[in-house]
Amino acid sequence: MIRRTAPPNLMVVFGASGDLAKRKLLPALFHLHQQQLLHEGFVVLGYARTRMTDEEFRQQIREALLEHLAEEQSAPFDEGLWGNFSKRLFYQTGGYDDHSSFEALAQRIAELDAKFPTKGNHIFYLATPPNVFESITTLLAEVGLANSPCGGWTRLIVEKPFGHDLESAQKLNDHLLKLFREEQVYRIDHYLGKETVQNILVFRFGNGIFEPIWNRNYVDHVQITVAESLGVGSRGGYYDKSGAIRDMVQNHMMQLVALTAMEPPVAYDAESVRNQKVNVLRSIRPIDPLEVNKWVVRAQYSRGMVGGREIPGYLETEGIPPDSTTETYVAWKLEIDNWRWNGVPFYIRTGKALPVKVTDINIMFRRPPLMYFNSRETRSQRVHNSLTLRIQPDESIILRFDAKRPGPQLDVEQVSMDFSYSRAFGDASISDAYERLLLDAMLGDSTLFIRRDETELAWDRVTNVLDGWAIQEELLRRRGKKLTLPQYPAGTWGPLEADDLLARDGHQWLESMLNEGR
Ligand code: NDP
Repeated sequence: MIRRTAPPNLMVVFGASGDLAKRKLLPALFHLHQQQLLHEGFVVLGYARTRMTDEEFRQQIREALLEHLAEEQSAPFDEGLWGNFSKRLFYQTGGYDDHSSFEALAQRIAELDAKFPTKGNHIFYLATPPNVFESITTLLAEVGLANSPCGGWTRLIVEKPFGHDLESAQKLNDHLLKLFREEQVYRIDHYLGKETVQNILVFRFGNGIFEPIWNRNYVDHVQITVAESLGVGSRGGYYDKSGAIRDMVQNHMMQLVALTAMEPPVAYDAESVRNQKVNVLRSIRPIDPLEVNKWVVRAQYSRGMVGGREIPGYLETEGIPPDSTTETYVAWKLEIDNWRWNGVPFYIRTGKALPVKVTDINIMFRRPPLMYFNSRETRSQRVHNSLTLRIQPDESIILRFDAKRPGPQLDVEQVSMDFSYSRAFGDASISDAYERLLLDAMLGDSTLFIRRDETELAWDRVTNVLDGWAIQEELLRRRGKKLTLPQYPAGTWGPLEADDLLARDGHQWLESMLNEGR
């Protein structure tokens, strides 16, 4: 195995006073440092409006790390390691839209480049809300930081959300690509940093046994579920402007679809992998906005119990307008018009306040042509052999098939073969997604980052749905009526409409099928 260690670089984190920086980015960097994957010429410069000294910033990060370690219940805090890491942390107070702050930033970067062997390599990480992405990048270019002044490389990592519809995503891309080259821009989707998401490609293309059956000849349909058990909690104000389709489907779920459905790339490199993902996204049949209800179901959770705790309904939550039409659940039947998948529906769904937190890709295989062992009629009619790629939690791969139950009767039952990451590789085997992605960005490997065309194609398909919903609301408004979304009690698997979406094709969501099969 080749050990990948980062080259020297200075990473500026915009929004360094925020949640993402404290909870994810700095812990991931600390962990990379712990594994000796960072260069001695690696430096972090936090940047935000909140006034702080270097020392106060270090203190904040130290507290965040302690909290993180306590949550993870990992090894005791290593003071020596922290001492060494904290020497590389600096902080600069400044605005996101004033020139003088950025001149001061450029000055500070020059000082740090002189003090540490960074080789003039710079990464700018936009970890702020997106309303300041444009001004930050404009000012970076204005003060000459879009290309390293001293001969190193410069990269820009852009957090989600990348736009809120096709037009705004295109506008942001146009803006960024006036100032930076595409190969400098790393659009992050942290799902791609997850071990199990990367394993989709290893599973499919590193083995000879699955790929031959990974197509319309053997696969009946595909179900992808990203279930969250929490409600919106205190983030209601933010969530209400976004909703499930923007927050989850446009980015994470479209990526899962692309990785599940893509053709083998000619090589495992950034352009080849992304070319194949783009081909899938392009093959997703655009829906006619006027037919949105035929393909997509949306809903909101109402009051209910999840894991023994009562969750107030979405519309009862503080910060949510009582007449909000923002969806907390969406299910979508996608058709992929290519040779491999034609006629194989991909049903994808995501929701908040569902019974469990789980992300699964379920490949549902065709049934045998004759059902001889039909001891329980209804069950055998409905239960497919299935392969589940469980992305989180309990990262695993589960193959379900029928077996004869021991005994004098010919009784058939579905059983499973499970591969569990933690059993195979130990509990500590799953590293945080950000760790992998930050290391990749330092190494200049953009395979697991989103290219411009991927973002825009995913937005294009999602924007058709958003347009359809906007038309519905407008038609109701003209008739003096208001839209109310279907409701599902918190702690259930979503609205009945989502079951109907599959029932129309003679299918069921996997958990109903398994329950019925018992
Ligand atoms: P925060 O709301 O914590 O914002 C980060 C920092 O940006 C704040 O500390 C604040 O710093 C500054 N800021 C906040 N609001 C504004 C505003 N309206 N205008 C300008 N600056 C503002 O966000 P997060 O850290 O949670 O997220 C940062 C980015 O990462 C977002 O784009 C988010 O969507 C994305 N993200 C976050 C995840 C998470 O788990 N938190 C997960 C995935 C993506 P100051 O006032 O000091 O300048």
